[in-house]
Amino acid sequence: MMVTGINGISYRLDPTAVGSGGEGDIYHAFITKVAKVYKPGVLTQELKDKLEIMIENPPNESVLSQVAWPLDMIFDDKGQCSGFIMSELSINAELGEIYKYPSTLPISVHQKINIAQNICVVISEVHKAGYIFGDFNPRNIGLNKDTGLVSFLDTDTYHVVDPVRDCTYRCNVCAPGYAAPELLEKCSDYVAENPTASRNAYAQTPLPTFTQETDNFALAIHIFKLLMNGYTPFGGIIETSSVSQSSPGIGDAAVRRDSYCFKPGYKPQSAAIPTLNAFPQEIADLFTRAFIAGRHDPKQRPSAVDWHLALNNYLDSLVTCSHNPLHQYDSKNDTCPYCDADRRFGAVVSEKPVESSALKQTAYSPPPRTAPKQKTVLAAVQAIKNAQTLIAIGEQEPTIVYRKEMRSDIISAGSEHSIALAADGCLLAWGSNKYGQLGDGTFNRSLNPISIIENVVAVSAGAGHTLAITNDGDLWAWGNNEFGQLGDGTFEDRQSPVKVFIGVAAVSARGAHTLAITNDGILWAWGNNEFGQLGDGTFEDRNSPVKIMDNVKAIAAGNVDSSVVTNDGELLFWGTYGTTFDDGASVGQQDDMKIMDDVIAVSSGSYHTMAITSDGSLWACGWNGDGQLGDGSTEEHSSPVKIMDNVIEVSAGDIHTMAITADGVLWAWGLNKYGQLGDGTKTNRYSPIKIMDGVVAVSAGQDHTLAITDDGVLWSWGNNKAGKLGDGSTWKSLNPIDVMENMMLPFGNLNILI
Ligand SMILES: [Zn+2]
Repeated sequence: MMVTGINGISYRLDPTAVGSGGEGDIYHAFITKVAKVYKPGVLTQELKDKLEIMIENPPNESVLSQVAWPLDMIFDDKGQCSGFIMSELSINAELGEIYKYPSTLPISVHQKINIAQNICVVISEVHKAGYIFGDFNPRNIGLNKDTGLVSFLDTDTYHVVDPVRDCTYRCNVCAPGYAAPELLEKCSDYVAENPTASRNAYAQTPLPTFTQETDNFALAIHIFKLLMNGYTPFGGIIETSSVSQSSPGIGDAAVRRDSYCFKPGYKPQSAAIPTLNAFPQEIADLFTRAFIAGRHDPKQRPSAVDWHLALNNYLDSLVTCSHNPLHQYDSKNDTCPYCDADRRFGAVVSEKPVESSALKQTAYSPPPRTAPKQKTVLAAVQAIKNAQTLIAIGEQEPTIVYRKEMRSDIISAGSEHSIALAADGCLLAWGSNKYGQLGDGTFNRSLNPISIIENVVAVSAGAGHTLAITNDGDLWAWGNNEFGQLGDGTFEDRQSPVKVFIGVAAVSARGAHTLAITNDGILWAWGNNEFGQLGDGTFEDRNSPVKIMDNVKAIAAGNVDSSVVTNDGELLFWGTYGTTFDDGASVGQQDDMKIMDDVIAVSSGSYHTMAITSDGSLWACGWNGDGQLGDGSTEEHSSPVKIMDNVIEVSAGDIHTMAITADGVLWAWGLNKYGQLGDGTKTNRYSPIKIMDGVVAVSAGQDHTLAITDDGVLWSWGNNKAGKLGDGSTWKSLNPIDVMENMMLPFGNLNILI
């Protein structure tokens, strides 16, 4: 059976289904991918809309093989949408199988902690992408017993909030015992007022219902079960009563009744639950936050990041039981808490030591994953908001570094990635990494800033390549090199920084060519030269720097054009604006063309140029189809027109423009399809409108914008494809968002068992 995807890709599905359920069947599609084909009538318009949003905004690639995430819609030969493509998940058990006590599986406590961490990794990435898992129960979590990796199985139960369209695709179910108390209460209230409502009313109760906090409630239950012999935390009875006298209730009833077994005055009904003080204080405190503080303030519940860090610390203090090699416990204990629990329970399972050969047969090994190629490159980044610290994640161990204050003057927005300098000269990069433009040695995109190289003083991001000048004047380049735009003498993409030039004072890129000024004022150019944009009088691409002219003080590489300011203030232009102007100006000129005099700064968009003159006035010329010149019209101008006064900085994006006036006000105009102007709308603006105050730096990219305010805060807005806003999600933002405040710890690369 042949089916077709959204972008016309054909998939050949195996003739027989490999699995089936109430809603549809699963077919093998091709290597590592399967197709879910719905039964007639199941695929409603609402479900299609939901799937489309999920396809458009997937979580980080690092977990895409661990979630039943829709990757592409499929259409049958009549053009009818019939289902979707997803990763084939590598699982051989359900999580619930290891919650049985006495256990029949030879999985150690150490391995259970690893499994808990792997659950944290997946749910963290789901949350970072802006989603809620909803029905977070063990039947929806698959386990690979050989690797310890987990997979989230259910595609349909994701609770998806679309902030752009302001609508929610609901999760309508939740397994008993995993729903948070505030959710149960809200649903009960609704049912009390609406007697005809369905029993749990998850589908009808007014929003919000499921939240990241309700997910965090279920997450804490899973971690409790993994550490506590599979028992629920809500199996508590009053301390003074005997086991036969009282019942904690089961499922939702136990949660409603608040039978948390370690709350004051309560004890676990089952003797098989280890004591809470057998665990590190950090772990005990997180359970208290999850089930006591979190009961009345759900925000108190630990996040997946909190748990992952605490569990990582716990691993360091583990010792193995001398009696049963599956038992590991905190070294502070004199006796094994799991043996103690077994003894109390009166079980005989632990009396017979497990054969070590049995362990060997199921020995865990790290899953086959592509390791980062460059050991020295650390994925940076922040996490703990109150502590204001940054966490740097290496290949193995996280290391704490202090929160980096953003440098007040250096940011650069590329087409699908973003660059910023921290105050200590550390270059941070995030967004798409399709060509290696992040420079971290991989092709994995990053939804958060990651640190690349140090001692950087200037940067520029092109369409798919990145340039940085270090404090010794060395120029480093990485990313796309199809046209030689890296200048390293090759046409090969680079995933890590390579040194390409020395004695460099300034660098500029936007499309696929690069301009640089050396300390002696000489202009050099290399890369794509299809329209003569290098200014060397030819149309030949160059893969190493070519000397162009002397006495240059400012440069701006456009998409397929270059603007250069001489020491005398002349603004010269070569390349093309890609259009024949209304006034008849020609295209594709490669000879120097003088645009105007008295210029002190220049910025180039895709097909327009913005210049500031010595009196602070701002001038514009070029294409104006979406108002990017800011003169109130959509008329093209081959010679400059004046836009506004008192401008101290300007940045031309692809089809929008940002400017800062002397009073620190940020102004915007041009295309606003993705909210790149930051005024809270998607309406194009043809004249400057005020966006925010106190701005000291701005950079406009293809369809997103970065800015820094005088308090050192880094802001981003607009299109968030590939995570180029850096806030840990891929949701676009029509308003400026504080990047550092919204950053989350990226730990997909810790998603392995030790
Ligand atoms: Zn033991």
